[in-house]
Amino acid sequence: MIAGNMRPVLIAGGGIGGLVTALTCHEIGVPAVVLESVSELRPLGVGINLQPNAVRELGCLGLADQLDAIGVRTAAYNMYSRLGGLIWSEPRGLAAGYRWPQYSVHRGELQMLLYRTVIERLGAPAIRTSARVTAFENTADGVVVTLVDTDGSTDTEHGRLLIGADGIHSAVRAQMYPNEGEPLWSGKLLWRGTTRTTPFLDGRTMVLSGNETTKLVSYPISEPDPATGAANLNWIAQRSFDKSAGFNKEDYTRQAKVDDFLFAFDGWSFAWLDDLESLVRGAERLYEYPLVDRDPLPRWTEGNVTLLGDAAHVMYPVGSNGASQAIVDGRMLGRAMLDHGVGSAALEHYEREMRPRTERMILTNRTAGPDHIMQIVEERCGGRFDDITEVVSADELQEFADNYKKTAGFAISELNSSPPIIPPVLDLPAS
Ligand SMILES: Cc1cc2nc3c(=O)[nH]c(=O)nc-3n(C[C@H](O)[C@H](O)[C@H](O)COP(=O)(O)OP(=O)(O)OC[C@H]3O[C@@H](n4cnc5c(N)ncnc54)[C@H](O)[C@@H]3O)c2cc1C
Repeated sequence: MIAGNMRPVLIAGGGIGGLVTALTCHEIGVPAVVLESVSELRPLGVGINLQPNAVRELGCLGLADQLDAIGVRTAAYNMYSRLGGLIWSEPRGLAAGYRWPQYSVHRGELQMLLYRTVIERLGAPAIRTSARVTAFENTADGVVVTLVDTDGSTDTEHGRLLIGADGIHSAVRAQMYPNEGEPLWSGKLLWRGTTRTTPFLDGRTMVLSGNETTKLVSYPISEPDPATGAANLNWIAQRSFDKSAGFNKEDYTRQAKVDDFLFAFDGWSFAWLDDLESLVRGAERLYEYPLVDRDPLPRWTEGNVTLLGDAAHVMYPVGSNGASQAIVDGRMLGRAMLDHGVGSAALEHYEREMRPRTERMILTNRTAGPDHIMQIVEERCGGRFDDITEVVSADELQEFADNYKKTAGFAISELNSSPPIIPPVLDLPAS
């Protein structure tokens, strides 16, 4: 354990990455305080996926059972053409041979689980809400952070380090890169919702249908109710637009209408779904969101301040990786603090480990994410085939699937045989 009487590590942002970082600090004996802009954390968002590398880390934090209670163990990943032809199917999580499951889970429920755990373990004062970080100043041995309350009043916090885990519109990143501007729009819009209905296939499969221009993704994020058989199905419809039109109002909570996108799926056939219209019209709420990312940064760290999660590397969500990467970042930062002490050397080390990896992922997700094979099939045969291996060879299909897992850090044998990021407490050197 790193013990002692030190100023806390300040974490800007109580999202998935910030809360995991706080729990990790606690695990290694480092005091931490989360500074969150909203006045009350609420379970916002729709479905996300946690890959086995991130699930392993949540297990190391003692959250395996709680995660199992709120998520669905994803067992398969299927890709179809817009005419219903099965392009690729692979097992996922335990079914694929990982030692840890993959989970599909409601983002808000995961955030609330982490939030409750931070309160239980670190105490309520470890999360300061209505505390929007607006600026930071490096000092010789720490950092001073300026905060703005929801009522407009300002305050400061002093810490040993500042971790900018404040998401896609990070104020910490904006201070480091004042000329960066808004996130970059891909030209695609997403409509996202969850609908309570009978799940498709085995109730544990993530499905993608279509191509780069128009796509439908769906997966269950709850177990079926034993009485009714209904589960919460997460779905995402995607369409492409003329990029020059510009569309930069990314906001995870903007509501939208089914008629803005449903017509784009006219004439489609879904081998796995009987009635798309019922699925999307049955959603309790429907959100619209432009598919955006940001260019990789040349540096994340400035003295005693670094970036983490979406603030450091927001990427297209094509590989179901945003939350998983934020979790791995938090754990790697903890490991760096164990190895290099709670100071700027740890931040430099963490950045050296994580920045090149996530840079590869941002760039891969732009052009060759795991579902890019669906576009290749569209271009080669318009989505119509009897035998997929006459369109794309079995080797090419396998290579696509394997390469992405390697890039994202969840290749099966590498992950299964690697030691945990933070060694179990008993293995740590005495403080
Ligand atoms: C409300 C919301 C809903 C989302 N819904 C989805 C979804 O449905 N599907 C999906 O794939 N991804 C969603 N995301 C994004 C997803 O959570 C992230 O991509 C991923 O989990 C990485 O997490 P993160 O901790 O880096 O960022 P986030 O989870 O975005 O967390 C950032 C946190 O920082 C806080 N914050 C922002 N600015 C400041 C500031 N200046 N000072 C202090 N705190 C600040 C935010 O309120 C938020 O709690 C959502 C994010 C948010 C904030």
